[in-house]
Parts: sequence; C-alpha cells; structure tokens
Amino acid sequence: MKKILSIVMSVILIFTVLVPAFAAEKKCDCGNAPVVQVRGIGETLYDGEGNPVFSAGNIIAGILPVIPQLAQFLITMDTDVLVDALGTAVKAIFGPVSYDNNLNRESVVTVKNYTSDPVETYVDFTKEDVGSEYTLGKAVHQELGDKHSYLFIYDWTANPFDIAKDLNQFIKEVKEKSGHDKVALCAESMGGCMTNTYLALYGYEDVQTVVMANSAFNGLEMLGQLFIGNPQIDGPALGGLIAQSIYGNAEYASLIPYISIFRYLANLANRLFEVAGDRIYEEVLIPVFGYLPSFWCFIPEYHFEEAMAKMLPDAGPELKAFVNEYYEKVASKTTDRVKEMVESEDINYFCVSNYNKFIAPVTKTSRWNSDGVIETYNTSGFATVADMGETLGADYIQAVNNGKNMISPDNIVDVSTAQAPMQTWMTKNWGHIAYRLDDGTCEFYLWLLTADEQYTVESNPQYPQFMYYNTEIPQLMPFTCGNGDVTGDGKATAVDAGLILKAVAGVYCVPEENFINADMNCDGKLTATDARIILKQVAGLL
Ligand SMILES: [Zn+2]
Repeated sequence: MKKILSIVMSVILIFTVLVPAFAAEKKCDCGNAPVVQVRGIGETLYDGEGNPVFSAGNIIAGILPVIPQLAQFLITMDTDVLVDALGTAVKAIFGPVSYDNNLNRESVVTVKNYTSDPVETYVDFTKEDVGSEYTLGKAVHQELGDKHSYLFIYDWTANPFDIAKDLNQFIKEVKEKSGHDKVALCAESMGGCMTNTYLALYGYEDVQTVVMANSAFNGLEMLGQLFIGNPQIDGPALGGLIAQSIYGNAEYASLIPYISIFRYLANLANRLFEVAGDRIYEEVLIPVFGYLPSFWCFIPEYHFEEAMAKMLPDAGPELKAFVNEYYEKVASKTTDRVKEMVESEDINYFCVSNYNKFIAPVTKTSRWNSDGVIETYNTSGFATVADMGETLGADYIQAVNNGKNMISPDNIVDVSTAQAPMQTWMTKNWGHIAYRLDDGTCEFYLWLLTADEQYTVESNPQYPQFMYYNTEIPQLMPFTCGNGDVTGDGKATAVDAGLILKAVAGVYCVPEENFINADMNCDGKLTATDARIILKQVAGLL
C-alpha cells in the first residue's frame, strides 16, 4: 500500500511541476510585437435584451412622436415647442445609454463582438472590402502572421477608467495568446483617448510602440466648444462639408449657388440658440452629453475648467470627482506623457495627423483644419495649423527654431509647436481612419507599428514629415513641392511649362505621376501659375 501511495504521490508531484510548463503559451521569437488596434467611437451598442441601441428603427421611433410638435413649430415659430420636441426625441434616442447626474446608469449596455481572439478567427478576409480598421487588421495579419493582429472594441459611452481597465486586461490576454512580452498599440480616433487613459493609469510596461492615429488624445475641439457654450452653425462651411462628402475634397465652388440655403438654415439654427440656448443646454445637452462620462475624454485640457462650470453646475459629487480625476491624472498630463515616451528607451511613440478637410461646422471653430472628423490642431498634438482655405501667410516664421524646416510645403502647417515634432507625420487630403491595401497607407502604418527603435520623421525618405494623399491614384506619397519635370527627362524646362499650359487648356493630358511633380505651388492643381513658376526657374528668376 505504501509503495502504491508513494508512486501516486510521485506521479502527482511530477504533474504539478510539469503541467504549468505545458499550460503556458509558447513564446514567439518572430521579433514583431502583436498589434492591437484600439478602435474609435461608433461600435454598435446593444441593450440588455441584445437589441442595437442606435438602430434606424429606434431613431425613427424617437422622432415620430414629436412630428406634430415640429409641425406646430413651423406654423407658430414658437421655439419652446421646438425645444420640447428636441428634448423628447434626443432623450428617447440616447435614453438607453444615458447616465443620471451622478455617474449612475440603470440600463445594461454591451458590445457584442468583444473578444481578445486574433482577427483571423472571426473576420472573413476573403471578402473584398472588410471595412477600414479590419483592412489594417488584415494587412497586419498578412505581414506578421497568425495571432499577431487584434482589435480592441468597447462601449464608447462607458467610464473611460473602466474602459482602460478592460484594455489592460485585453493586452495581458494578447501577450499570453501571441507569446510576446509587449504589444504595439494603434490608437485610432477615440481609441487615442482610451489609450491615453490606459497609459496614464497602467504605464507602458506592456507596450513596445504606440501610434496615435488621427486620435483625439488631445481632445476634440468641436465638443470642447459645445461644452463651453459656443454652438454656432457656419452655413458656407456646411456647404464645404457637403461638397467634401460628395466630391471627396473641400472645393465647393460648384455649390456656391446653394450657399444661400446653407446660410439660411444656419441662421435659423443660430437664432434658435440665441433665443432658447439656455433651455437647450439645461434640458438636452447637459443631461444627455454632459453626464456621459466617456465624452469628457474628448474635452481638450485647456477647456476643462470652463466646460465643468458650464456643463456640471447640477452634477452630483461622484460625477464631479470623476471629471476632476480625469483631468488631473490623464488630460492635464498628456503633453508630459508624450515627451516622456519620446525620451524613453522602453517605448516608441509616433503621431500621424491628417489635414485639409472641413469638420462639422457646429461651433465657432468650424473653419479649423481637420481630417474631416477631428481637428488637426488636436490630432497633431498642437501643431500650428492655418484655417481651411488659408495659409500661415507669406511672412510666417517657424514658431520654434529647432534647426529643421517644420513648415509644410503648402505653408499650412508648422509642426514645430507640436508635442513631439520629430515624431509627428502630417498628411494632406487623407481622411479620418481610412486604410486601403493598395494605396500605401497600410504599409506606412506597418512600418510604424513594427518599429524596433524610436524613429523620427528623418528615418525613412519614403515617409518624410509631410506626405500627400493623392486621391486620384490613390496613393500616399511624400509631399514635396513640384520639381516641374513633366516630361520626365530629369530637368524643368520651358517645354514642361508649355505642357502645363496645354494641360490647363485641355489639349494635353499630364500623367498622374507627373502631375504631382509639376504642381509647383502645392495647391493640388495644375494651373498657369505652375507654368509661370517653371518659366521663372528656367530664366533664373526664382
Ligand atoms: Zn511573434
């Protein structure tokens, strides 16, 4: 009996020693950290019964009951009736995700496809168009192989501290599954806020690289302006935004005949804010958006004090304490954190910021340059950026002299004032979080995400600080002012100028690759001005 017992004991002992060794995932020695995309706002949210919260049906159901009130307003122009209708509709639509004034939410909100499994296990990559973030996920998977591409999704109406906690857990699981000690984070849009919160609370022990990808980690000026009480609809800018969505660029000359309509609509809305602004804030904007904890991570740190005074006069102690804590621990320390990451040998920090697109014109800053969704000033970490349609001016001098030219070829952006000037890439005409497999955008991100050291904007001539997204080809390319060489013979001559003039007159077609070359003033068009600049160059006047 004793003998059997001792054998059994030995076997148990051997197993207790060996089993953990078997259970641990194998280490991966590929040298590339797995990529986790921390996605932006807009994931489909579900209520306790599993029904989508912002479905078209729910939105229509929220609007239908107030149609009689809207009709009444059109006849009587009684703004109180309109505000009543607005309040009822917005509360019906946002009801399922709403909080009270003290950070409590009765309802259950979930995101359905939350998983820390790698993308290849649940995304159908055989489909032609898998959707933007999934496209990058596919590119990462193609480049790095199985178990190296992950998407972190979350309830974007939740408390950012809770989301950061989930992200921390997610990263631990990815490390385990991939067999790597560190991950690379691609922080997209609102995902930048969550990544910023995560880094503030948990540090970067588990992170090899962080890429801020058109991210709101320095806030969303538009929401900041709303939270400090500056709503203002800009009619012509609204026209620009619509033209941009139709034609893919901000040129809205073709819409000029309609600008008066946009102006009229804007005036109507602005008058409503003048007459009934206080009620709109008290009954709609404050309870629906001011009490939503996640929206506070969109407030630029320079607006916090004013925003709290405007939005939280009637908030409970828990909500006020949360907003204060968020400001203290996360928002107010973002710049220091970025500088620390750039200096640190333990993490690589990169920032990608796009410009030359109109933003929704709902505040006083509607002319700010953006990527169509977030202001370039904020996504770049405070580069100096001219308003839409303008330049920094002929007399502009770079704000910080760091021995490098940090002004864009089109004189629209000065990166020298950014949080990390040498780690910030600016791209003209590239939209918000838009990846394709065939235009060089995924390659650029892969280059950053697989970085084995702290690159700068001088590390790779293929990816200089200023890049240009040619929407016609489409292709991401270095943005340099044209060299005037249309014929491709390596020289700019009077022949090239002649070809441009012919192209302008419509009798000669400049090939796309030469078009970029010949755009001498970098305004994205080929005009007689470009031909003139070439001729001056040939004559030695420039
Ligand atoms: Zn690996």
